[in-house]
Amino acid sequence: TYVIAQPCVDLKDRACVDECPVDCIYEGQRKMYINPDECVDCGACEPVCPVEAIFFEDDVPNEWADFRRADREFFTEL
Ligand code: SF4
Repeated sequence: TYVIAQPCVDLKDRACVDECPVDCIYEGQRKMYINPDECVDCGACEPVCPVEAIFFEDDVPNEWADFRRADREFFTEL
């Protein structure tokens, strides 16, 4: 799955939403979230993010590693 990290917080540009072929990017209170059970790893969202907040889960920079859990938990709590 792809993950949305810190740069999205309080920005929510939403450019990614229009690119996602399976509509698996959802809006939370402070950032956008990718549903890991629906993401097909196409990568279409990554280059369109104006703040480079989107990463393949294995490529999330260390300082933002917690966002992998945050995105998964967001959908667990729904
Ligand atoms: Fe959607 Fe593809 Fe991005 Fe996954 S990688 S969130 S399927 S655009």
